Amino acid sequence: MLWRGRRQSDNIEDERSDSGGGLGGGLGGDGQFRIPIGGRTGGGGSILLVILVVLAGWYFGFDPSQILGGGDGGLLPGGGGQITETQDSGNAPANDEMKQFVATVLAETEDTWTGIFKSQGLTYEDPKLVLFSGQVRSACGFASAAAGPFYCPGDHKVYLDMTFFQQLDQQFGASGEFARAYVVAHEVGHHVQNLTGIMSKFNQMRQGMSEADANQLSVRIELQADCFAGVWAHYTAQKGILEQGDIESALNAAKQIGDDTLQKRMQGYVVPESFNHGTSQQRQTWLARGYKSGKLSDCNTMTGPI
Ligand SMILES: [Zn+2]
Repeated sequence: MLWRGRRQSDNIEDERSDSGGGLGGGLGGDGQFRIPIGGRTGGGGSILLVILVVLAGWYFGFDPSQILGGGDGGLLPGGGGQITETQDSGNAPANDEMKQFVATVLAETEDTWTGIFKSQGLTYEDPKLVLFSGQVRSACGFASAAAGPFYCPGDHKVYLDMTFFQQLDQQFGASGEFARAYVVAHEVGHHVQNLTGIMSKFNQMRQGMSEADANQLSVRIELQADCFAGVWAHYTAQKGILEQGDIESALNAAKQIGDDTLQKRMQGYVVPESFNHGTSQQRQTWLARGYKSGKLSDCNTMTGPI
């Protein structure tokens, strides 16, 4: 990715020198789900609105709300102890190259999503991206880097310990800059879901579900975040800043962090009922679908086969 020299986002909060301090903790209430779609919501043809209407109908009748307790579940199947180790990057330089890369990718997502929202008559609100080292406190509670990057809908922030990138490369076999860009874009995809109300509907639906059903629903929300990452990649490609092999490296990352591939690697067998992010094939398929068309309407993972 030809990212050097491009705009870097100033929405980075570098907390790598802290140890899980900072933000006041505690679980957020439902009031923290903001849907700053304000302004003009007319235009019945809006793709976002169509998606919302579809989802609202589909989700109807469930109680809020679980996700505030645990973020979006991160990029990876969390909690299973499947990722057990990250290096301490507490001494990373304050403005190292990887930080600049992340800030540039974040800026690119800001530009792309601002444009997409605007085209729908909506206003995009930039998320913050918190760089942390080892552990962090968010509005979604305390989190360890072992769970991988995540998005917290309660405070509209993406949380990233960049040592995950090394893990992605060395442990999961997903190398390349654009594999890393995909990680950021996936989390920003959850932010888009939060802004558009998809995530709160998801949380409402999840209430009262069996674990297996909740996992299946989680797969759908995760695959949509992959698709949104693909939409971002589509517009990024149009800017002419992708290099040969970039998309392939993102697709490979999607493959390497598929539930089936991860489980095979970590435990030697797969437990499909426990899948909550999607198989390698599903993750690649939805990332590629978003990338090909750049259309949000092609990212409806909520209904139909996935
Ligand atoms: Zn995710």
